[in-house]
Amino acid sequence: MSTAILWFRRDLRLADNPALNAAMAAHAKVVPLYVHAPDEDGEWAPGAASRWWLHHSLDALDASLRRHKGGLQILQGSSLDALRTAIEATGATAVYFNRLYEPKAIARDKWVRGELEKDGVAVASFNAALWCEPWDIATQQNEPYRVFTPFWRNLRTRIDAVAPVAEPSPMHLATLPTSSSLDALGLLPTLDWASGFAEWTPGEQGAQEMLDLFADDAVGHYVEGRDIPARHGTSRLSPHLHFGEISPLQVAEGLRDRVKKRKSGADVEPYLRQLGWREFGHHLLFHFPHTPKKNFNPKFNAFRWEKRDAHALRRWKAGKTGIPIVDAGMRELWATGWMHNRVRMLVASLLTKNLRQHWLLGEKWFWDTLVDADLANNAMGWQWVAGSGADAAPYFRIFNPVTQSEKFDPDGAYIRRWVPELASARGRLVHAPWEDAAFLKQSGYPQPLVDLKSSREDALTAYQSIRSGP
Ligand code: FAD
Repeated sequence: MSTAILWFRRDLRLADNPALNAAMAAHAKVVPLYVHAPDEDGEWAPGAASRWWLHHSLDALDASLRRHKGGLQILQGSSLDALRTAIEATGATAVYFNRLYEPKAIARDKWVRGELEKDGVAVASFNAALWCEPWDIATQQNEPYRVFTPFWRNLRTRIDAVAPVAEPSPMHLATLPTSSSLDALGLLPTLDWASGFAEWTPGEQGAQEMLDLFADDAVGHYVEGRDIPARHGTSRLSPHLHFGEISPLQVAEGLRDRVKKRKSGADVEPYLRQLGWREFGHHLLFHFPHTPKKNFNPKFNAFRWEKRDAHALRRWKAGKTGIPIVDAGMRELWATGWMHNRVRMLVASLLTKNLRQHWLLGEKWFWDTLVDADLANNAMGWQWVAGSGADAAPYFRIFNPVTQSEKFDPDGAYIRRWVPELASARGRLVHAPWEDAAFLKQSGYPQPLVDLKSSREDALTAYQSIRSGP
């Protein structure tokens, strides 16, 4: 009658959870445990928006476990101490968990595993987050990939071979004599800035509903729709994927099934390729763990960033740069904890190129405000736009936010939604309100923080100095 601990981390689901399945198969009782140990993540402990999500996701997981006559057990403190406490209280002989890929988590898990094994406890870990773990895929020269297309070509050949596993049933769950309450973790904000997050439903059920919604229609128009921020043209699964409420295996299989049932004939391949970027991000983070803090391309170490401009940063964060598409994005981020991918690229480009502020500053703000803040994807995204990353956009390709806005938000629906000062702007003015001084004054919308043309030229000049370097 052995007991095991299932150590939940960012795999907050019951279906397609290989550690849970393995624990259930081998033990009479399983204790589902979450350990709150934010200090172990160092400076990349979850930001405020992520903590909001985590609270609701843990709550949803607890509710699911209660349907199986259990409940999520919560402990605080160091992971090792908490696991030892749980082992001692239940007589558990084994600990099961799903792997994480952030450098600090890898080091912590290795250490915890070693200590528990020294205590005589069996430890087993699994892949629940990726189609292919970073060490299982390599170039022909047996090196890590640095370019996305060949990475994807290789990965694509592997993904049909893996299928999700069903939720174990029945589940035999056990509890601890004492468990912390979710509220005691203090994850929710004390000020009411997250009221706009109500449109999200964190948790496994919410993830499945989001997948349903996407499969209903948008997946069939993904190629054209994914760049239009005014539309729900993308899946919005990123926070669900980050917290492991759904796996890429489930997304791929779920989409195929739903498309088949609806006989829509939608092509899911372009969408799967985009999920490939998530895998690429994890691959890069594992093989080049310095990338959340340091340029992937060392040439950029010599780049002349402007010194930190507190005023510009404040306006950028508040969505008051005077560049409508950028402000719309920054306000969407603040209000909902999410921003459309196309707009993420534009706000990042303005910050790193026109304002020449270091990409680390933007990365940090996103870390605190995104509900999908993910070390691998965020670092890759910022370095991609800044030009310093692996397979990045070349530095000299500087987005023009006005032409981008005209192209991807032609009637200004996205801007009007998030920047109400411009709701009545006619024609091109919604993209460039400074072109009519009287309208700008009457709207109350600010003058642009930066001249787009001259700042672009300055950025290109700054780039020349490293381009000719070694
Ligand atoms: P969909 O278009 O529906 O894509 C499906 C899934 O594929 C996403 O949920 C995501 O997991 C993955 N994906 C899609 N595009 C990318 C991409 N470019 N890079 C990596 N994965 C991708 N994504 C995060 O998940 N967390 C972040 O912290 C993050 N920071 C970013 C910062 C910058 C500056 C930029 C330019 C991009 C960032 N992204 C980040 C990538 C991308 O913007 C989001 O994954 C996407 O907008 C999420 O919306 P979605 O789920 O509707 O995407």
